[in-house]
Amino acid sequence: MGYTEDELICYQFEDKEHRFLRAAAPPIYETAPFFFDTYEEYAEAANHEKEHYVYWRGTNPTVQIAEKMLAALEGGDACKCFASGMAAVSAALMCSLSSGDHLILIGHVYESSIALVKYLAKFNVQHTIVHSMEIEQVQAAVKKNTKAILMESPTSFIFEVVNITAVTELAKANGIRTLMDNSWGTPLYLKPLAFGVDIVVHSASKYLGGHNDLVGGAVIASNEIIDRMYLEEYELMGASLAPFEAWLLIRGLRTLPLRMEVHQRNGLEVARYLSEHPAVSKVNHPGLLSHPHYELARKQLKGYSGLFSFELRDAAYEEIRSTLNKLRMIRIGVSWGAMESQIISPNYGYNQADLKDQHIPESLIRLAVGLEPPALLIEDLETALS
Ligand SMILES: *Cc1c(COP(=O)(O)O)cnc(C)c1O
Repeated sequence: MGYTEDELICYQFEDKEHRFLRAAAPPIYETAPFFFDTYEEYAEAANHEKEHYVYWRGTNPTVQIAEKMLAALEGGDACKCFASGMAAVSAALMCSLSSGDHLILIGHVYESSIALVKYLAKFNVQHTIVHSMEIEQVQAAVKKNTKAILMESPTSFIFEVVNITAVTELAKANGIRTLMDNSWGTPLYLKPLAFGVDIVVHSASKYLGGHNDLVGGAVIASNEIIDRMYLEEYELMGASLAPFEAWLLIRGLRTLPLRMEVHQRNGLEVARYLSEHPAVSKVNHPGLLSHPHYELARKQLKGYSGLFSFELRDAAYEEIRSTLNKLRMIRIGVSWGAMESQIISPNYGYNQADLKDQHIPESLIRLAVGLEPPALLIEDLETALS
């Protein structure tokens, strides 16, 4: 039985430097400063804080283990872990943009990332959201001062698939940096750096942590980008991941391949069931033949996660509200990527104008299929949809 390199990283990663007392699990270095025997040693370390243990906000041995694992999984030079996915997105964007620059977002990226980009207007960073997966449309949005493109594939809520190679080629030809939020696919199912993407960001709060008990984020890129970001956005904005959270992340990564396999299988089974249900008008899952980007998804992705959306035939808020309220096993709540199946709709009954503005259908429901037996989830949905 052959194991993939990724599986070996997850199941067997060993950090010899920190394996004291032959402990099977890594130690949690819950310490703010580190002490030095001499002042010269301290002065030397403080001058190269990325390589030395000086202070929690800079470099911590437990956090470093998570960073080494993620860099290896993404096939990148280096990684820095952040206190949340949004801290990672913020650092990645801010290290790529200056006042007067322009940024392109492709399709519907994560809601808070859109809000962050709008906030950056305060620092004279302008943006364009391209509501199309057509590369010609992305090309048309490129301006003289375009410095970065932020994308997700598949996109949040809508699950459209971006042609990553087409985007990175366009970006390279125009001196534009590409950033990809890879939370959906995880490094197991999508490796954006191999497609020429410059910076990968993650919300570790989702599949990487995998247990609904962690908020964290990560940025993976070349040494050049990470070194620069470390001294600026990482240390100065100060949103470094805490050692205990890093330990939870390491523990989550240990079982990532096993969990993703089940999310994939269960997700497809529930998506297929929904696609045949008379109350459902559409299922947005890139692994279904009916998905408009099915072929592209198959080419780019090594697998599918368990997060997708569907649309009710009846678009009224009342219909969404009553359907979600009838669910028993599937829980109502934000976030996704853990054992529990979770469901939400971006339609809150009072935000129709926003939904229209963001090109999100009013009848949309997002479902994160967890690790429970799919038959039980289908039974739950059958009751709620009838
Ligand atoms: C949740 C999420 C984020 C933000 O992550 P936090 O850890 O909640 O800050 C970023 N991108 C995507 C695609 C997400 O789903």
